[in-house]
Order: sequence, then structure tokens, then C-alpha cells
Amino acid sequence: MLTEVHNWARFPRSRSIVIPVNSRNQEIPFNKMDVSFLPHGMGRSLGDSCLNDSNALLMTRGLNRIIAFDPLGGRLVAEAGITFDAILRFSIPQGWFLPVTPGTRFVSLGGAVANDVHGKNHHCAGTFGHHVVRFELRRSDGSRLLCSADENADWFRATIGGLGLTGLTEWVEVQLKPITNSCMDSEIIRYRDVDEFYALNAESLDKYEYAVSWADTLSSKGLGRGLFMRGNHNQDSERKTRKAPTGPYINIPGIFPFSLLNRGTLKIFNSVFYNARPARKTAVVPIRPFFYPLDMIGAHHHIYGPRGMMQWQGLIPSREAVREVLTTSADVGGSFLTVMKVMGDQPPAGLLSFSGAGVTIALDFPYSRHALETLPRLDEIVAAAGGRLYPAKDARMSGANFRKYFPQWQELLPFIDPRFSSSFWRRVTAT
Ligand SMILES: Cc1cc2nc3c(=O)[nH]c(=O)nc-3n(C[C@H](O)[C@H](O)[C@H](O)COP(=O)(O)OP(=O)(O)OC[C@H]3O[C@@H](n4cnc5c(N)ncnc54)[C@H](O)[C@@H]3O)c2cc1C
Repeated sequence: MLTEVHNWARFPRSRSIVIPVNSRNQEIPFNKMDVSFLPHGMGRSLGDSCLNDSNALLMTRGLNRIIAFDPLGGRLVAEAGITFDAILRFSIPQGWFLPVTPGTRFVSLGGAVANDVHGKNHHCAGTFGHHVVRFELRRSDGSRLLCSADENADWFRATIGGLGLTGLTEWVEVQLKPITNSCMDSEIIRYRDVDEFYALNAESLDKYEYAVSWADTLSSKGLGRGLFMRGNHNQDSERKTRKAPTGPYINIPGIFPFSLLNRGTLKIFNSVFYNARPARKTAVVPIRPFFYPLDMIGAHHHIYGPRGMMQWQGLIPSREAVREVLTTSADVGGSFLTVMKVMGDQPPAGLLSFSGAGVTIALDFPYSRHALETLPRLDEIVAAAGGRLYPAKDARMSGANFRKYFPQWQELLPFIDPRFSSSFWRRVTAT
């Protein structure tokens, strides 16, 4: 039976056969069904890489146990369906934090490996895959591969950022990072334009472990003006607080019947958000508001209305192209939430990792035909600049552009499980 399964953007719509996987030894009917299979974690991706329309999804939420933990060295071994939220509730009281975390803690460990997620510390810590020690990969032929940098190293590299196509990751061993307490020394600085954004990064990246910006893409007063946020883990041993994040505190019960976000409301919101801040503010804050402000509101994506939203995230190597993306994004419709971050230039952890030097810009648009038709203009700017789009956030880039952004994509082919596929993969490899 086909059931509707959503990604976080609620676009595109997709129906699949849903197969819950609740234990590592559970039999999976790989040879009993004439469909392809794809693991599905928390569905927090904003594109179709977690969808397998008209085929089967292996739902990993029940695969959520902690298998082993070394409280002295911070090595954690856990089943791949466990969420970052559950890991933090376990590890923070013991003085350990995730080495890399995305902007939501409601992602699964397996999903974080398959998309090789990045966080506000990419400039110094790389992606999540850089901190994965090993994992077990279950293939549809019944074989199981232990993968690490030393054992089945090519499978290790293909599976990190491998979009769930190499098999089902059953458990993962990851190196956590030590923290003194659960407080962050944070600073928020208002900046006037893209040049100030670059200048703030230049003075911050070797002193601050975390740095990210919110940008106002609709202001006529300064291109890309915004709020620059930087911070470090608090080192004060007198502070004993080790509290995991809690919440969400507000829930949006149902999908709004229409999108509340349009150019007019966004312009007002952005201007108030920008101007309400002091020019510079330092504070010691808990982990949740620093890393996960959006997690405060459950199902925040419901405000985009019944047709959902589209996120566009590009990695852009040159300042000129960053300007062009910001200018052009206003024509697409005005992004509700624009996030900018300077990325590091570490060698990628995975074959198809979204990584590399440059600035990443994430833009959120309510779904509209106009946005769908104009977003390719942004894709072309990125292609011309030699950058790439993030597959975890994409439901519409052309196959030609995907192959341009990831010219090494064919190297993944020998590692793809013959019974696995996804809506994303079929789309970007079709024409
Ligand atoms: C509010 C918000 C903020 C975000 N911020 C960031 C950010 O800052 N940085 C960033 O990088 N991303 C960010 N994301 C995207 C999100 O972190 C990634 O899409 C993440 O991979 C989602 O994990 P998931 O468990 O929901 O995986 P899903 O979306 O369910 O699946 C993602 C991929 O993982 C594969 N997969 C899942 N489990 C397994 C498994 N056990 N074995 C093999 N493959 C598996 C799936 O097949 C799919 O290809 C954000 C998303 C949201 C909603």
C-alpha cells in the first residue's frame, strides 16, 4: 500500500510503501518485492533525496538504541535511527557534545552521515563525516560491511554523503567533543553589507569555533546586510550546568491554509528583526538558542501553507557570485530565512559531500510557480562560478547542473546497492 510521506519542505509530494525497521536483525523483504528501497530517517531533508516515490522506504526511527559509550574518550556507538536530540540528552550531562550539528537536532545519525551534514563550525571542523570512526552497512544481498578509514575505505567514503544509496547504515561510531558545561559565549553583530560580512569572517574564523549569519535579502539599504553570530563553548569550570536542549515550546498545530509569507510581510519582518538588535551584543546563552533556534517552534514549516516551500542552498566560491545570488534572489520572491556561512577548505569526507571553500547561502521560498521558474537563474550563477548546490535541500535542480556540480558522480555508481534508489537520484541521472 502506498502512503504519503513528506520531507520537511512538503514539496514534492510523494507516496511510498513504508517498511519500519526496528532492529538490526530484522528481515527486510529485499527479494520479495519488485520495488526499489531507500532508508528514511527523520525526513528533515528539504528535497527528494529522502523520498522514493512509488517505491519502498525503510523507516529507521525504531533503530534508536545506544550500543556503547566510552565516557572518558567520548566515543559513541549508536543505531543509525537515533536522533541528535536523543544523543544530546545522553551525552551533555556527561560532558560531551556533537562534533558537528545542523540547525535542527531532530535529524537521525544515519541521515547525518548520508548527507554528510555541516554546521556553524564547518570552517574548523569540516562536516559530520570527518568525525565518523566507522559504521556497519547492510546490503540487499544480505552482506554486511564494516567500514572505516582503514577497512573498506572506499565504501566508507562512498557512504558518507552517499544519499542513502549504498545500503542501510545500521549503526555508527562517532567521536564526540568534550565540553565544560552547556553554555555558549555568544556574540551578535549587526553588519551593513556583504563586504562587512566578509570582514567579520576574516577577523573571526581563527578565534571562534562557530560563525554564521542571518541576512536580509529584501533590504534596499545594503546588499546582504544582516546579523553575524559567532561563539565558543564556555570554558568556565565554575559553571556546572550540563543541560540538554528541551522543547519545542510552541507547536503549529496544522498547515496554514495559505502562505503568510509574501514580499510585503517579509520586508517588514526583516527590517524589524534587523533594527531591533543592538549593534553588538555579547551573552552567555544555553545550547538550544545558539544552535537550534528553529527547533523552538514545532512544525515551523507549516507556515508556508499547503503547497510547502523550496529551499535553495548553494556553495559559492567567489564574492562576485555571492553578490549576484543575493541580488537575483530578490527577483525569485524574497527569502524568508537567509543563512550565510563561510565554509572551510578541508578535503571532503565523502565522495559527494557538499563541501569546499566559499560561502554557502541558504534561501527559503514558499512554493510558487514563479519561484520554480526563476530559481534556475541562481543555479546558473553557481554553475558559472564553479560551485555546487546541496542535494539534501534540493527538489528541482536539473540533471545537467547536478553532474556539473559533482563531476565525480559516476564514481558512486559501483557502490550503489542494486536494490536501492531515490526520487532524487532518478531525477538527476535521468537526462
Ligand atoms: C530546520 C532545519 C535546519 C537544517 N540545518 C542544516 C544545516 O545547518 N546543515 C546541514 O547540513 N543540513 C541542515 N538541514 C538538513 C538536515 O540536516 C539533513 O537533511 C539531514 O540529513 C536530515 O536527516 P534525517 O534523519 O531527517 O534524514 P532524511 O531526511 O530522512 O534522509 C536523508 C538521507 O539520509 C539517508 N538515510 C537516512 N537514514 C539512513 C540510514 N540508516 N542508512 C543509510 N542512509 C540513510 C536517506 O536515504 C536520505 O538520502 C536542516 C534541516 C532542517 C529542517
